[in-house]
Amino acid sequence: MIHQHTSLLPYNTFGIDARAAFFTEICSIQELQTALQAGIQPVMILGGGSNMLLTKDVSGLVIKNSISGINLAGSDAEKTFIKVGGGVVWHDFVCWAVENGYGGVENLSLIPGTVGASPVQNIGAYGVELKDVFVELEGVELATGQVHTFGHAACRFGYRDSVFKQELKGKYCITSVTFALTHHAHRLNISYGDIQKTLESNGVTEPTIADVSRAVIQIRSSKLPDPAKIGNCGSFFKNPETSRTVLERIRLSHPQVVSYDLPDGRVKIPAGWLIEQCGWKGEKVGNTGCYEKQALVLVNYGGATGAEVKNLAYAIIDSVEKTFGIRLEPEVNII
Ligand SMILES: Cc1cc2nc3c(=O)[nH]c(=O)nc-3n(C[C@H](O)[C@H](O)[C@H](O)COP(=O)(O)OP(=O)(O)OC[C@H]3O[C@@H](n4cnc5c(N)ncnc54)[C@H](O)[C@@H]3O)c2cc1C
Repeated sequence: MIHQHTSLLPYNTFGIDARAAFFTEICSIQELQTALQAGIQPVMILGGGSNMLLTKDVSGLVIKNSISGINLAGSDAEKTFIKVGGGVVWHDFVCWAVENGYGGVENLSLIPGTVGASPVQNIGAYGVELKDVFVELEGVELATGQVHTFGHAACRFGYRDSVFKQELKGKYCITSVTFALTHHAHRLNISYGDIQKTLESNGVTEPTIADVSRAVIQIRSSKLPDPAKIGNCGSFFKNPETSRTVLERIRLSHPQVVSYDLPDGRVKIPAGWLIEQCGWKGEKVGNTGCYEKQALVLVNYGGATGAEVKNLAYAIIDSVEKTFGIRLEPEVNII
């Protein structure tokens, strides 16, 4: 059923009160195809609304993807293949995998949103990215209603990027994703961030996937604001990748600059560090602001409009560019 003038307040983690001209929730490919046949344009696919900033009311049809299902789709000597509905809550899938002894997604615990959105920006955390466990996805082309399968190469995954954020942006609804997870001899990735330290403080010497998941949940809960309490979309900006020349130039004025080497010889500089150096961390501007514990996160303290958050984001981008000559790019989809 298609509703009119629906508030999207319950459907986005920034807590922005924008309206959809038309809104429907779909639980199967068939329901999606029927909704598309109504011919309402443009169509916007909504998952958990945890990576979008709504700056105005949305014209056209918003389709909330609620396709469920976690199904075993085969296995080989090392891995089990699992096909998951696009509307499944990402963290519910991670919990299911951990409880059932499948390894590979434990570092991605507690990332908000849905499985269907996870390939869109190749979600990642604590040294693991979606692409590391991805096999293929099924998506319905919004223009035709036809189902297409995309393998790894076709998705063109990059850092918080994929073909679905580039030329196929807004053209498909991802209805399922198939993952390959280890069923034994799990390859734990505990070298990143505070995982090792947290495991030690939990008294864990021989970690299991459940221990790693628990540690990640602990770390994330202590650093990131809970969207149920303070509206936010996690990291608002991507960490910029730049040349060594730029890094050395920054080092002249800021000898303490933090950087990570990239395989192609360039470097990644944490956007949070750049923003903090410009004095934004903990700054409040009207009803919005830069989170006090993590400068990369913009928050809605209550009643902020999307335009207010967007203005703050661009003020930060301009100030980082003026100070460091680096133009930050939003990770969040500004709608
Ligand atoms: C507190 C917090 C922490 C976060 N931490 C991380 C993190 O560590 N790592 C990380 O990578 N991200 C993180 N995020 C961002 C967010 O959780 C992810 O980007 C997530 O994948 C978004 O899922 P969603 O279902 O909420 O997508 P939405 O916000 O609903 O949509 C995001 C974009 O994808 C499109 N889309 C959604 N579903 C589909 C679909 N089925 N088919 C096609 N297009 C679709 C939408 O149209 C939109 O353009 C965080 C967010 C929050 C609030």
